[in-house]
Amino acid sequence: SGHPPFDVNAVRRDFPILQERVNGKQLIWFDNAATTHKPQAVIDRLAYFYAHENSNIHRAAHELAARATDAYEGARKKVAKFIGASSVEEVIFVRGATEAINLVAKTWGVQNVGAGDEIVVSNLEHHANIVPWQQLAAQVGAKIRVIPVDDSGQILLEEYRKLLNDRTKLVAITQVSNALGTITPVREIVALAHSVGAKALVDGAQSVSHMRVDVQALDADFFVFSGHKVFAPTGIGVVYGKRDILEKMQPWQGGGNMIADVTFERTIYQPPPNRFEAGTGNIADAVGLGAAIDYVERIGLENIARYEHDLLAYATHALKPVPGVRLIGTAADKASVLSFVLAGYRTEEVGEALNREGIAVRSGHHCAQPILRRFGLEATVRPSLAFYNTCAEVDALVSVVRRLSSNRAH
Ligand code: PMP
Repeated sequence: SGHPPFDVNAVRRDFPILQERVNGKQLIWFDNAATTHKPQAVIDRLAYFYAHENSNIHRAAHELAARATDAYEGARKKVAKFIGASSVEEVIFVRGATEAINLVAKTWGVQNVGAGDEIVVSNLEHHANIVPWQQLAAQVGAKIRVIPVDDSGQILLEEYRKLLNDRTKLVAITQVSNALGTITPVREIVALAHSVGAKALVDGAQSVSHMRVDVQALDADFFVFSGHKVFAPTGIGVVYGKRDILEKMQPWQGGGNMIADVTFERTIYQPPPNRFEAGTGNIADAVGLGAAIDYVERIGLENIARYEHDLLAYATHALKPVPGVRLIGTAADKASVLSFVLAGYRTEEVGEALNREGIAVRSGHHCAQPILRRFGLEATVRPSLAFYNTCAEVDALVSVVRRLSSNRAH
């Protein structure tokens, strides 16, 4: 692939927090689906911005304004290339995936979904890809339809096909489930949506850090993600939208930056993406996102995907035979996430036992209650892997789970 071979120990040295001690132990971070850590390159880029470039972004005003504008627009260019957008005008900066989906619901949604229309989501969705569509449906009198999953946690494409009809206006689907790790067949899902004239929004919050994404190959109409889950700061995220769709969309928030001309009688808006970026944006953290993208591109998404695939297989193989462990989400195509329950223990108890050993996992509903309830559960323990995790860390996790298991003599 043109990249040097992947060296996990070299990569780990790029992340200062991995040296942190927690409860007397070296931190083991298995909560990557919630948020990822930041390489020194990102931390340094933020410091450099504030030390040398900080300004609001009106290019012409003065030297620092030009530097800040170049840095911010440079980050937009990196994002466009990272996800395969055809132009920078298709990349809107927002706070995160949640704000991204709300932007689409409150602009495109209100303009294009009406009474009796249908919005299709999957059983796997994060609440961020459910609630905004419910709110829209309630506002305009539309209906939500749900694609079911099989017992492995994979989308049932045949059932999906049956849900589609000429009232379907939008299909909103995650590329990777944050609760189970399922990689969904988004390309087919998008193509089927298009076959009935619907648009498709792909939630990439859990995909962009684990695999190469190409929005044009997916033919997604909208694609959203959060910076903080791809080694960038919090408070910055992206809406990608196809240019012709964005050009027809009304703005969401009004204010500075998004206007071409204002009188008391009327406002003429900027073209996309500025039309959707009212007010002063999160300039520094957008620049930080650009640095995070440079960092992962240097390692290579293909290297990351290959390494994580092997690590997830290793972890699955180690955890599955532990007596009392029930793995939730066993689809053939998965990324990063292991979700499980342990007989005889509440999920919080497992999380606490791991935390005592310095191991961070999420235990709870993962903002995806419908999919856990599909499996008869309210919560799971969820270790989620990134490319800086190791087999030795997996062994440490499994040994805690084994000890808990043997205390209950399954
Ligand atoms: N979608 C998915 C699949 C997610 O995992 C998350 C974050 N857990 C979100 C959307 C929302 O992202 P954020 O909280 O960063 O807005």
